[in-house]
Amino acid sequence: MKKSNKIEFVSVVVPVYNEEGCLQELIDRTLAALDGCNRRFEFIMVDDGSRDNSAEIMKEASRKRPGEVISCILNRNYGQHSAIMAGFSQVRGDLVITLDADLQNPPEEIPNLIAAAEEGNDVVGTIRQNRKDTFFRRFASKIVNKVAQKATGVKMRDYGCMLRAYRRHIVDAMLQCNERSTFIPVLGNSFARNTCEIPVRHNERAVGDSKYSLWKLINLQFNLLTCMTTMPLRILTYFGLFAAFCGYLLSVYIVVRRFLWDDGDSWGQGGVFTLFAVMFIFTGIQMIGIGMIGEYIGRIYNDVRARPRYFIEEVFGRGEEK
Ligand code: UDP
Ligand code: MG
Repeated sequence: MKKSNKIEFVSVVVPVYNEEGCLQELIDRTLAALDGCNRRFEFIMVDDGSRDNSAEIMKEASRKRPGEVISCILNRNYGQHSAIMAGFSQVRGDLVITLDADLQNPPEEIPNLIAAAEEGNDVVGTIRQNRKDTFFRRFASKIVNKVAQKATGVKMRDYGCMLRAYRRHIVDAMLQCNERSTFIPVLGNSFARNTCEIPVRHNERAVGDSKYSLWKLINLQFNLLTCMTTMPLRILTYFGLFAAFCGYLLSVYIVVRRFLWDDGDSWGQGGVFTLFAVMFIFTGIQMIGIGMIGEYIGRIYNDVRARPRYFIEEVFGRGEEK
């Protein structure tokens, strides 16, 4: 039976980390946008261990609209992607939309995402028009996009933008991934059959600073790399192969030179080059060995770390509490 493309129930998932400055505006604008969609909806905010008033603001909104605004409080800061995963574990809708709390992507784009998903797309990505980020961030994104395209084989132009829509089955699949370090847009795409990208507006951060320090960003890039590929480990193997091959060529050259043009030892420098050739070969072999061990370690690492990805302390707003 062919599944219908019609979307009846929309879930919006927003990770929130110290966003008290813009949270109320986010809630108002998102609810307004969702009210305008004429569909059942739930708006799930995940508090990623905020130290400010964010959790209170969220709970207040849940109190006002129980069953529609859900506050999901994590016990500490787990990072944006884990927070979104926690939100995913709570969704009930047919289509799940992720959004940043800082209003860089306007919630008013939600109807466009729904429309694009109803055209039969499993994942709807977005391209940020006239992106309002620093040059460094844009440059980093370029590299990330290239890696992600290689890893997933799905050509998307903008992996960094978190304003996205996923069909429910994609979210269910993502929840079954037990890996700790995730990069959701890439993971989502790896399960999608049809994807599309639509242009969306992009604004400056409404209030506060980016929650990503340079260090956290670098970490995120490593997550992206390691969550999808074992390529870095293979690079060592390839490099080793290359070094060993060079050593081999050099040794052949030395032998040939020695026997064909016997010009004494003036060129050979008393065996130094022979030593080089032997060393290259052995270093290469060692690298190949380390690369091989790395392959196994990578697999062991993935299997062994069966820790829970997050721990939800409280789920608020289902309408059961007083
Ligand atoms: N965020 C989070 N946990 C973190 C860092 C960020 O939940 O540890 C949330 C944050 O509240 C925001 C989103 O992730 O909703 C994106 O963060 P930010 O806007 O700071 O990132 P940028 O736009 O600079 O990529
Ligand atoms: Mg932002």
